[in-house]
Amino acid sequence: MIKTTPFWTEETPRPADLHTVELPDAVDVAVIGSGYTGLHAALALRAAGATVAVLEQETIGWGASSRNGGMATTGLKEDMSVVFKRYGSDKGRQFWAWALASIDYLEHTVRTEGINCNFQRSGHVTLACKQSHFDHFAEEVAWFRSALDYQDTWVVSKNDLRTEIGTNEYFGGLVDRNSAAVQPARYVFGLAEAAARRGAHLVEHAQVTGMMRRRGRFFLGTTRGKLEAREVLLATNGYTTNLVPAARQGIFPVGSYIIVTAPLPEALQLELSPRSRMFFDSKNFLNYFRITPDGRMLFGGRHNLSTGLDLMDSARMMQARMIEVFPQLSGTPLTHTWTGKLGICFDLMPHLGRVGGVHYAYGYAGHGVSVAGYLGKEAGEMLAGKRTSSLLSEITHPRYPFTPYDRIYLPIVSNWYRFKDAIG
Ligand SMILES: Cc1cc2nc3c(=O)[nH]c(=O)nc-3n(C[C@H](O)[C@H](O)[C@H](O)COP(=O)(O)OP(=O)(O)OC[C@H]3O[C@@H](n4cnc5c(N)ncnc54)[C@H](O)[C@@H]3O)c2cc1C
Repeated sequence: MIKTTPFWTEETPRPADLHTVELPDAVDVAVIGSGYTGLHAALALRAAGATVAVLEQETIGWGASSRNGGMATTGLKEDMSVVFKRYGSDKGRQFWAWALASIDYLEHTVRTEGINCNFQRSGHVTLACKQSHFDHFAEEVAWFRSALDYQDTWVVSKNDLRTEIGTNEYFGGLVDRNSAAVQPARYVFGLAEAAARRGAHLVEHAQVTGMMRRRGRFFLGTTRGKLEAREVLLATNGYTTNLVPAARQGIFPVGSYIIVTAPLPEALQLELSPRSRMFFDSKNFLNYFRITPDGRMLFGGRHNLSTGLDLMDSARMMQARMIEVFPQLSGTPLTHTWTGKLGICFDLMPHLGRVGGVHYAYGYAGHGVSVAGYLGKEAGEMLAGKRTSSLLSEITHPRYPFTPYDRIYLPIVSNWYRFKDAIG
């Protein structure tokens, strides 16, 4: 029987002694959402001496931050070459450095806070699904060297690919040594413990249902009572609702789905992933996969952008794809499948901003394991008056004042991606 709850939180449940509290009457800053964004913001606010409440509608870390693949990969969702064209080469270089710094910051946080989340600088490999994709890899390496002076990425030919991965399915790979791996639930629970230790009020089962602003102060209604705050930070990413309609108009949710196998014999783990890399392929509807710290294959992706796919149908499709990639896994049972929501902005960039007086930080588009915490920290520093801007608050943020994304926008984009994958 396959469980339909995240493997990560079964392996490491929310700590029973995590210090959560009743809703306070008033704080300097109310943070809505208790994932990487909200908790890093809370840490930065506490470091500056501000009082802060982290309000979570479910339990701490319940959203994407405890459900993801745990792959902290370099760069942003948008291609760096597009970022260069859109914002210019100076800003492009700054965005690249910022994204790399977010992985260093993740490493720094887990070391200084003593968070045991299996952090490892594993590196990642992008796998070419077509010869044309592989041909593009060499150009990409050359571009990274000349435009970014970045030497830590290289091409692996099909003939040599077995040194990286135990399959003949791909046309070659592109390695980047700076990406990292974590056990995501351990990471988010460790952050929550650090935030509680530093005096942040963590309030669970406190869904924010409404808010109003009067004489420069916010009054929030929650399912656990009322709270007054000087400032509000929306840290809800893929779970953003119409609570602040203008914020919702700048982001849309996309479902991501994961399956996990039973633990594999050590020799098979080594055959499938000799260097413990993080993997993803070169399609638009990509698959991402890795070996978990306890030796299972975790395989993720989506065949549609919708958040409402049938979990077991989706698990069957992913298992079929996993066996195409790794025929060695054809007899291995699945133990878990689950889903969660990513948040994607229309320009594929993260954004930090303010609408109607409410601050927000979101839009990581599948790069949030490193980027969400870094942007959350910057948001916290801005709210605490420790910085005046961030690279991600300085760019235009496209918004669309319609909300039936699931029914209209996403099917169109899904078909476009499918078409590109078919011809590309
Ligand atoms: C299946 C899956 C796989 C992924 N894999 C990767 C990966 O390998 N690498 C990577 O970099 N990224 C990955 N991601 C993305 C990454 O997990 C996210 O970008 C990151 O966790 C976002 O963190 P966050 O704190 O902004 O949001 P979340 O962790 O989603 O937290 C938002 C929280 O807000 C709460 N909330 C919403 N509305 C309210 C309200 N009104 N009141 C109170 N609380 C509210 C929600 O309950 C939720 O807990 C993946 C995501 C998913 C779903």
